[in-house]
Amino acid sequence: MKHKAKGFNTKLIHSGGPKDALGSVTTPIYQTSTFSFKDADDGAACFAGESNGFIYTRIGNPTIRDLELAIADLEHGYDGIGCSSGMGAVSTVYMAYLGAGKHIVSHNAIYGPARGIIEGAFARFGVESTYVDTTDLEQVKAAIRPNTALIYLETPANPTIGISDIPAIVEIAHKNNIPVCVDNTFCSPYLQNPLDMGADIVLHSLTKFLNGHADIVGGIIVTRTVEHYKKLRPMMVTMGCNMDPNQAFLVRRGLKTLGIRIDRAQENSIKVADYLEKHPKIAWIMYPGLKSHPQHELGKKLMRGPGAMISFGLKGGLDAGKTLMDNVQLCVLAVSLGGIETLIQHPASMTHSKLSAEAKKAGGITDDLVRLSIGIEDVEDIIADLEQALEKI
Ligand SMILES: *Cc1c(COP(=O)(O)O)cnc(C)c1O
Repeated sequence: MKHKAKGFNTKLIHSGGPKDALGSVTTPIYQTSTFSFKDADDGAACFAGESNGFIYTRIGNPTIRDLELAIADLEHGYDGIGCSSGMGAVSTVYMAYLGAGKHIVSHNAIYGPARGIIEGAFARFGVESTYVDTTDLEQVKAAIRPNTALIYLETPANPTIGISDIPAIVEIAHKNNIPVCVDNTFCSPYLQNPLDMGADIVLHSLTKFLNGHADIVGGIIVTRTVEHYKKLRPMMVTMGCNMDPNQAFLVRRGLKTLGIRIDRAQENSIKVADYLEKHPKIAWIMYPGLKSHPQHELGKKLMRGPGAMISFGLKGGLDAGKTLMDNVQLCVLAVSLGGIETLIQHPASMTHSKLSAEAKKAGGITDDLVRLSIGIEDVEDIIADLEQALEKI
């Protein structure tokens, strides 16, 4: 990781694994399942851990390695583990730290499937869970049990945009010898570095801001220490949650513009949030950049900018939300986030539809909640689109 001391945007372009022997400026796609144990130069056998040490693509591949090293550098971590998807990364962490009789504490408004797999599958194997509002430290303290083996945070959370105090929760967790994992998908390492705040593990859905072009699904885990890395890497390999070299190539390409993409999306978001906050048909809005956000000050401490995710509620509730989404023309009605195009969605009927009514209520997922992922279009066009659709309500 020779670019450690360089600026963020420089690292985005130049960080990663060793460059290709033929001088290719971009790391090529090593589209191979397996690697010869004979060294091409001297014909001698090379064994795992020696020379380039690549054996089989599920275990490791040069294109994937380039991406892992680049993101580990951006997150100031020990090393990275590329995964098939964000959920591949989440499942790998759960498999490595949880087991029969173990307990997880997490936020009640995290990414839906990250909770769903605990309650739907891990519970069958005897894993216990407590979901609380982790923006409230007292609730976190009260949830910890002697068998708590993992605190799993997502901040800002999905889709309520609540901000959890990472350093304060790390302090509570570490007093109890519990590792902390943070899903940093909403911020990306451009805006927030949880490992610098003491978290042990950070993970991303690469599908979102890091790739940024809505054309792949991928995930990554970065650990602060070698110990956590050694626990997680073999779990990813044996579960088969590995990346594909083609996918890694596209993410490495998208990653290069992360800084300028987020700068632009954030600049747009600040203007859209200002516009929505004053709109008479809007009941409430959650955006870390607004003074009205309950953790506005904490957000400024943890994050280098307010990001590009906005949630708001319509005074007209569910029906108004449906009308809004039926009438937007530029904003794309779709799940996912963090791409170059503005996306709009309605969690209660889409991403969080499988949660029970109580779980939705506890997680703040109300029927009127609309979520925007602001893209890099001209902001006048985004606002004009929302304006014409809001007029139809
Ligand atoms: C999308 C998302 C995930 C899951 O990622 P996939 O790549 O879709 O598997 C996890 N966490 C957050 C916050 C997400 O937005």
